Amino acid sequence: MSRLKVLLLNPPGDRIYVRDYYCSKVSKANYIYHPVDLLMLSGTLDTRHEIRVIDGMTAGSTRGMVAAAIRSQRPDVIIFLTGVVSFPEDFRFMEDVKRNSGCRIVASGELFLENPARQMERVPCLDGAILDFTSCDILTLLDRYHPEAGFQAGDPIPNIVYRCGSEIIEGPEIRGSGESYEMAIPRHEYFPNHQYRYPFVRRFPFATVLTDFGCPHHCHFCTISRLGHKVRTVENVIRELDYIKRLGFKDIYFDDQTFGVQRDRTERILEEMIHRRYGMGFICFTRADTVDRGFLRLMKQAGCHTVVFGVESKSDTALKLAGKGLTGSQIRDAISWCQALGIRTVGTFVIGLPGMTRTEAEEISDFAIDLGLDFASFNVPAPRPGTLLRQTAVTKGWISEEIQPMDQSGSYAVMGNESMSADEVLQYRNLASRRFYLRPRYLFHRLMNIRTFYEFKSHLNEMTTLAHPKRFEKKH
Ligand code: SF4
Repeated sequence: MSRLKVLLLNPPGDRIYVRDYYCSKVSKANYIYHPVDLLMLSGTLDTRHEIRVIDGMTAGSTRGMVAAAIRSQRPDVIIFLTGVVSFPEDFRFMEDVKRNSGCRIVASGELFLENPARQMERVPCLDGAILDFTSCDILTLLDRYHPEAGFQAGDPIPNIVYRCGSEIIEGPEIRGSGESYEMAIPRHEYFPNHQYRYPFVRRFPFATVLTDFGCPHHCHFCTISRLGHKVRTVENVIRELDYIKRLGFKDIYFDDQTFGVQRDRTERILEEMIHRRYGMGFICFTRADTVDRGFLRLMKQAGCHTVVFGVESKSDTALKLAGKGLTGSQIRDAISWCQALGIRTVGTFVIGLPGMTRTEAEEISDFAIDLGLDFASFNVPAPRPGTLLRQTAVTKGWISEEIQPMDQSGSYAVMGNESMSADEVLQYRNLASRRFYLRPRYLFHRLMNIRTFYEFKSHLNEMTTLAHPKRFEKKH
């Protein structure tokens, strides 16, 4: 078996996109962090192949520069990120790359979570797609590489769809149900870490780490609910934390979709972090029903400074219709526990979910303010492939069956609901953002809570982007 030159590529684009973990969107406030699919694949692939990384979303990257870099590297295989936010331009770019280089092209992104073989048929330049970026299945596909003929026939490979001549071979999707896994340690040093920015990080440089894959919950608007859930062993996670500590990272973004699922396992990770005195801070996403006071206290001791909660809506009816499995009072309790411990809180909201009324949409910023959140992220529904939200939206005639580009961040909206048009959803989203962020008292509080020069730069950047949103669109 030959050692291949494999390029991990986050393609350039017209705007700054975050495309990873099946949840692509236009970047808010100019932030961009590690493309986690590629980061996870870097460890697995590095065990057998020669790896290069190009992140075309980092500052100064243009299509021309990225195309020139690809020509000079002459990879055998490119694994690239795409997503619903940018797939038309991603595929155009990759078609050009394929025409000019002749290399094999493999994709990762949420488009392939629903009928991946059909997506492959529509995009002739694609040679394959990966449906689980934490598994080793990609190595089996690369074993079938042939320089002229492409990927060779063989048994279907789990979590992989690939083209063999005129045939598309689709492997079974293996979805986790709580079991443990281990993976090769991601090669953090291959990525342009000095170029990544994330607004809630406190110290620089920061690393992105996953302790699990997927989520056991089933929120109707979320692609992650399709993935099942599996967890890395404690030992495997600690090996990576030791590694990033040696590399000099100072903060961690735990990109788990719900940090703390399987409580005892997470507690062992946190206890090890305390015991090993890493001194790294961290931020994570979790759910209000996954934490309690004791668990949050342990998180704080291990370095947690910021927690992001999916609040979504003030209305228990909308939460129920969205399959969230939470109530407003649970969310309120979890946020107040964080505040008592001095952990900053971020709430994410989706304005325009089914069942949300105009009044609720208009009052959502008051709810966010009332909760005392340090940050709020107001989004619009993105009916992504594979979600129940998409099925509902198609059935009710809010969107067409054809997959169109969409952006949850709110640079535009593609669907309304029973009460609001898509344009109104967008207006309420923008109103909520202005009402929350442009309060003198809030701005003063933010300034007073800046602890590091990195945070100062990050806030300045965010404010400048909010004042001049067009300034950070990429130009090619
Ligand atoms: S809890 Fe979060 S990650 Fe899990 S399905 Fe719901 S929205 Fe998605």
